[in-house]
Amino acid sequence: MIYFDNSATTKPYKEVVELISRIMLEDFGNSSSLHNLGLRAERILEETRTNIAAAIKARSEEIIFTSGGTESINMAIRGSAEILKRSGSHILSTPVEHAACMESLKELERIGYDLEYLEVDEFGNIILEDLRNKLRKDTILVNIMAVNNELGTIEPVFDAARIIKSNNKKTIFHVDAVQGFGKIPINTRDLEADLISFSAHKIHGPKGVGMLYIRKGTRIHPMMMGGGHERKIRSGTVNVPCIAGFGLAVCTKIANMKKDQDNCKKIKDLIIKELIEALGSRMRINSPPDGVENILNISFKGIKSETLLHFLEMQEIYVSSGSACHSKKDTVSHVLKAVGIPRAWAEGAIRLSFGSFNTIDEAEIAAKAIIDIMEKI
Ligand code: PLP
Repeated sequence: MIYFDNSATTKPYKEVVELISRIMLEDFGNSSSLHNLGLRAERILEETRTNIAAAIKARSEEIIFTSGGTESINMAIRGSAEILKRSGSHILSTPVEHAACMESLKELERIGYDLEYLEVDEFGNIILEDLRNKLRKDTILVNIMAVNNELGTIEPVFDAARIIKSNNKKTIFHVDAVQGFGKIPINTRDLEADLISFSAHKIHGPKGVGMLYIRKGTRIHPMMMGGGHERKIRSGTVNVPCIAGFGLAVCTKIANMKKDQDNCKKIKDLIIKELIEALGSRMRINSPPDGVENILNISFKGIKSETLLHFLEMQEIYVSSGSACHSKKDTVSHVLKAVGIPRAWAEGAIRLSFGSFNTIDEAEIAAKAIIDIMEKI
């Protein structure tokens, strides 16, 4: 099997699975319980919080654990807009965000907030001058992703933060770092965002776990009411085993980030070279040349993405058509539309995404398989 769909989800590290399973079997107490088993679970939870906070240069009290990227994003966008509703209603975002951001923002628009989109270039990069021009005194929230999940575009979130804060310190800046974390250096000292969303399953951690970084002093309205867990911001019995697994995945991924991205670059370069040599003008690369190394979005002429995906699947090569989160909907991806890729090319787009376990031999096999399919059709 060749798994080139790591932006949809990753295979967990073996040590992560072992740690989760050990905690589930031995330290299964409720971290809110007052007895010894509860205290042991609480200790694991707080140690993990401290380690993750250190990894992103944050304070441990700025970390709230959630059920994943989608929940963190909903909490950040809707929770901060609710708090700021008396200060203004203007919100800025990009047209290339993941559905979790898009739908949260559209929901705010439906209830009366004034949502405006930033311009993007042919790769989905925002234009900083456009951000500068569109910021207003009553802009309460700006939402920009760190890395685009479909194209691999790295957005200039570090510069964007400085521009936003120099316009109005009170404007909240949320960064969706679900695809960026572990691929580009992200820490809360260099990135002056107020809110940052993360997910464990994109970095070889477990599914159903994520976190929201909330800068000290930033307030958000809680989405989940209940027993007051996670500083009363996210009630619900805490998933200690998977959070501990997330902590281990964070440390492992960050320690291996450079090595992994160098390996992904070799894989990506080889696939591009082989495909261009064999297919020439029958293909086009949609990803930017300076995007993350682990994402390659390419279009082919004369074949639909789904057809290519299924032919590859028959050889146990797993890729995605556009973005996996949308691939069951029969529409052209909103990201490819927003960057102006013509429909005929967009319909033949696939995304290959690489992770810590992929090899250069797999790249050779996958490139050859794509070329064979294209030659047969
Ligand atoms: N944001 C981006 C950029 C993503 O790629 C994804 C998932 O693909 C999400 C958010 C949602 O994260 P989760 O699957 O943890 O809910």
